[in-house]
Amino acid sequence: MAEQNNPVLIIGAGPAGLTASYELAKRGVSSIVLEKDSVVGGIARTAQYKGYRFDIGGHRFFTKVERVKQMWQEILDEDFLKRPRLSHIYYKKKFFQYPIKPMDVLRKLGFWESALAGVSYSRAKIFPRRQEESFEDYIVNHFGLRLYNTFFKSYTEKVWGLPCTQIKAEWAAQRIKGLSLTSLIKTAFLGNRGNEIKSLIEQFHYPRFGPGMMWEKVREKIEASGLARVIFNTQPVKINHENGQVRSVVIRRNDGQEEEIVVSALISSMPLTELFPLFNPALSECARSAASILHYRDFLTIALIVNRPHLFDDNWIYIHEPNVEVGRIQNYKNWSPEMLADQSKSCLGLEYFCFKSDPLWTRPDAELLAQGAAEVEAIGLANKADIEDGTVIRMEKTYPVYDDAYEAAMPVIRQELAGFKNFYTVGRNGMHRYNNQDHAMYTAMLAVENLLDNAGHDLWSVNVERVYHEEQKVSR
Ligand SMILES: Cc1cc2nc3c(=O)[nH]c(=O)nc-3n(C[C@H](O)[C@H](O)[C@H](O)COP(=O)(O)OP(=O)(O)OC[C@H]3O[C@@H](n4cnc5c(N)ncnc54)[C@H](O)[C@@H]3O)c2cc1C
Repeated sequence: MAEQNNPVLIIGAGPAGLTASYELAKRGVSSIVLEKDSVVGGIARTAQYKGYRFDIGGHRFFTKVERVKQMWQEILDEDFLKRPRLSHIYYKKKFFQYPIKPMDVLRKLGFWESALAGVSYSRAKIFPRRQEESFEDYIVNHFGLRLYNTFFKSYTEKVWGLPCTQIKAEWAAQRIKGLSLTSLIKTAFLGNRGNEIKSLIEQFHYPRFGPGMMWEKVREKIEASGLARVIFNTQPVKINHENGQVRSVVIRRNDGQEEEIVVSALISSMPLTELFPLFNPALSECARSAASILHYRDFLTIALIVNRPHLFDDNWIYIHEPNVEVGRIQNYKNWSPEMLADQSKSCLGLEYFCFKSDPLWTRPDAELLAQGAAEVEAIGLANKADIEDGTVIRMEKTYPVYDDAYEAAMPVIRQELAGFKNFYTVGRNGMHRYNNQDHAMYTAMLAVENLLDNAGHDLWSVNVERVYHEEQKVSR
């Protein structure tokens, strides 16, 4: 690591950035965390409205990475709650249990539809699509066209805003929530092949006051160590480098004030599209243009406060129904009752996946609240008359999109980054990878080891296994 006495500069106070700072502090190394917003946690923050707390989506703490598990427990201790999980899929005016239960599916889909799904699966096995390039190809080949159309297509297209024919098969293979659904549906129809797949999704961990609590505690701990500080409302504007070493970073606060910080190393969790133009001298033309073509999906949460102590038992419900725009509905009281200021009420979080260019993004909050109320009533989860208040939170770049542009761009981007000795990109948007908190954190842990121990970890090998995180192959 160059210039040991200078701090490591970390861009982003989300899970990845704060984990990097935490690991550095443990090793006695100083760091500065730059955060463009005024809160920590990034996409895993907890928003607040009149004392009600809610996630940007719902953030379960689940991991197979032991180090991450230990860190979570170390940070929150008894505030790291173990919660029961219950969720359903809403489709064609029916609530299917999720994880799928065979009899429930049979009963709700009906014998005829279930039989057709079985035939369609058999057809896919006998006549598979030869090129398994798209999400659709992958799912149809593995589960048949009928199950794909019933349980996959509409929700996936809501999430990504793309036809399933344009989403890379890699995403389906690497990590999707629906993949679990299909494997369970497959189990429902074809048997569980000797209980090979063990579901781990009956319980999950959750901080008493939501995921933001985890990241606020990490910030407290790193600052208390005297080795780190988080600078809010500040962004990097220029990254000076020579001979494969980042030397200094010019930062700009929201009030326009600029400062140059000489650094020993740089760790970035900000989106690659925004990062690559900051380099001085400029990165190669092909790397800059590769980063510029990456796409992101944005996200909007409508939080509704409902004047009812109890609405339904689920933590969340997937809304596959194409007639409403909402993609998923969270019931925060069932995540942790302490998310609510008043126990005589409930608080729902309606998730809308969109692009900033969609009319939904700029629709006035009052209209969005009315839309949210109408949609929950249409689904039958709450009466409009009981909805007494609400708020809207918009979050940009929540999902790095795996499309053709991504496939072409990533090798070029990775090659450019490989030319640096004291600079790593980590996390979700930092690596343009569909990383959950655990993998975002793990990449940060490995980056720190590369910097301090010259460990030579390949950060790109994190989260590439072709299994679904919520399932575990039971060794027999
Ligand atoms: C709807 C939804 C549901 C999810 N559910 C789960 C779940 O159940 N469990 C789970 O573990 N994960 C979940 N995730 C994923 C989780 O949110 C991410 O894995 C995690 O937040 C990634 O951490 P990160 O630090 O890499 O990135 P981020 O959380 O994006 O943090 C990056 C930080 O960098 C800051 N930043 C960006 N640009 C700049 C800049 N130019 N200068 C300074 N700062 C900058 C941002 O403001 C942000 O604070 C979910 C995500 C979504 C969208």
